[in-house]
Amino acid sequence: MNKPRIQDDLYTYVNQEKLDELVIPDDKPCAGGFQTLAEDVEKIMINEFEEMSLNNSYPNDYLKRACDLFVLAKDADKKAEYGVKPALNNLEIINGLNNLDDFNKEYKSLMLKGISLPLKIMVDTDMKNTKQHAVYIQGPGVILPDASYYKPEMAAQKEMIMGIWINVAKAILANSGLSAEDQEKYLADTLEFDNMLGNLVKTSEEWSEYISMYNPTSINDVSNLVTTLDFKAILNDLFGFVPEVIIVSEPRYLENFTKVFNADTFELYKHWAFVNGFINACSLLTEELRDLGSLYYRSIAGIPANTPIHKFAYQLASSMYSEPVGLYYGEKYFGSEAKKDITEIVYQIIDTYKTRIQNNDILEESTKEKAIQKLSRIGVKMGYPDKVLPIYDKLVYSDGSLYDVVGELEQIKILNNLSKLKEPTNPGKWAMPGHMVNACYDPFVNDITFPAAILQAPFYSINQTRSENLGGIGAVIGHEISHAFDSNGAKCDEFGNINNWWKEEDTKRFESKIEAMVEQFDGIELPWGKVNGRFIVSENMADNGGMAVTLEIMGKTENSSYEEYFTNWAKVWCLKAKPEYLQLLLNLDVHGPSVLRANMPPRNFDEWYKTFDVKETDQMYIAPEKRVVIW
Ligand SMILES: [Zn+2]
Repeated sequence: MNKPRIQDDLYTYVNQEKLDELVIPDDKPCAGGFQTLAEDVEKIMINEFEEMSLNNSYPNDYLKRACDLFVLAKDADKKAEYGVKPALNNLEIINGLNNLDDFNKEYKSLMLKGISLPLKIMVDTDMKNTKQHAVYIQGPGVILPDASYYKPEMAAQKEMIMGIWINVAKAILANSGLSAEDQEKYLADTLEFDNMLGNLVKTSEEWSEYISMYNPTSINDVSNLVTTLDFKAILNDLFGFVPEVIIVSEPRYLENFTKVFNADTFELYKHWAFVNGFINACSLLTEELRDLGSLYYRSIAGIPANTPIHKFAYQLASSMYSEPVGLYYGEKYFGSEAKKDITEIVYQIIDTYKTRIQNNDILEESTKEKAIQKLSRIGVKMGYPDKVLPIYDKLVYSDGSLYDVVGELEQIKILNNLSKLKEPTNPGKWAMPGHMVNACYDPFVNDITFPAAILQAPFYSINQTRSENLGGIGAVIGHEISHAFDSNGAKCDEFGNINNWWKEEDTKRFESKIEAMVEQFDGIELPWGKVNGRFIVSENMADNGGMAVTLEIMGKTENSSYEEYFTNWAKVWCLKAKPEYLQLLLNLDVHGPSVLRANMPPRNFDEWYKTFDVKETDQMYIAPEKRVVIW
């Protein structure tokens, strides 16, 4: 293939050689960028786990428990010995439920056993008073990757994916000990129950609007909606008292709850819960079942091979003990010199945002002041936390099958979550562990988290030039901070509380920017599907903000090179992926496709046109009146 000109396609110009040479691992849907870094971190940590286990020498108790779990999870023989028995024993509780009364009495036991429930109850930060916790309720997940697949216009895709699921489910249920007749009945009932859910629970697009999750409702109003539940008694079982206010995350589902869950549908529910429970158990049972259990997702994401057993074991152990593993990784592989250098970039970005906000044309003067206050209060978490959360002292387990051990640990996590209701929130809590290749802004804390694992090349290196680092990690830091002012963040104040601090005029001007940004992306045809501009608009606005703020810093940086800046920007988005996976992301991921994340933002900025002499006839040109700069 001929290499395109940079003015027509920055992404391919920069990444073509890399894309040609990248090989997508058999057990993954993609390679490159974030994925390559994640693979590298995983390799390092698997070696660490192997060595610690072999020498029976661990830096602390947490890592010992993580390594023991790792060893247990990769013991195929032991798993074969236990077979499906542990899962069937656990699911036995479902057979004992004869009616709604039984269900209400057993709700807590069902929850602790990890059985799928028609209404999920959990404790999380109260979005309007983020110092305290609140009880949230929501509906269950669906069989298809997202509720949007249940819309009439997705009928063809739904049928195709559901067909795959049914085939896989049949093969799995053949191992469940049910008679052939029951297998068929359970499957049909599961599909019927799922179909009711699919039309009522939220789509990813709906979930992406965080604020709409916050619907505080009096306990009496909720009880009157979920009349098939003995809701107050259930809450009393869970918390030892009945909270007065419940946050309803999915109003549509709740209003229709009794149509889904009632005496007539109870049998459907039971079969759905059993089938879900058995399928979810597969990864923890025999190797054959782990393979079958992964087949559905692998088929729809285009992944030929299952995760090898040692990788699976590491992924399980490192997610169960994520903070201690992240802390170990950070301490060993992330230097304090790098931390100092990046923290300097972060504060430079925050300060630059302050002046940009001061000079921007969206916000009124009084709103600008509050925006600057919000910036001054942003918490910065770089690398890894000093110590792990107290929950990790509780995460101990007894001898037994892998299924039972994981069940025991999950139960501790559930009880820990319930116990939080009367405790204050912990703003020192990290949203991501040190070994994760990712970054985030938390609107309800007003802080950014950059784990150690993302703070490496191509995002950041102490050996890269400042221009390269600004085009890499700098733009990503700017991206995360701008989430403080996106359509979700703008509705939360400097303490992370939902609190509309914008004037009507601010919102109006901001919304016209949103529309312009939706328009830039909406309907773009890629070989694997069409882009939904509204679904990904918050992330696109964040990319735009990240670029605006770092380009301004570039202008003030001595010996800066815009060529290096844009080249590294394109490099971090390099991704080679299976078309099935890319198609899935179009419906599930609030971030746009990598190629667009690399190629769309630059064309809004003068620096792009000047650096590469981009002209009207070039592909990466847009007319000045269509360019959008938000922050
Ligand atoms: Zn983002």
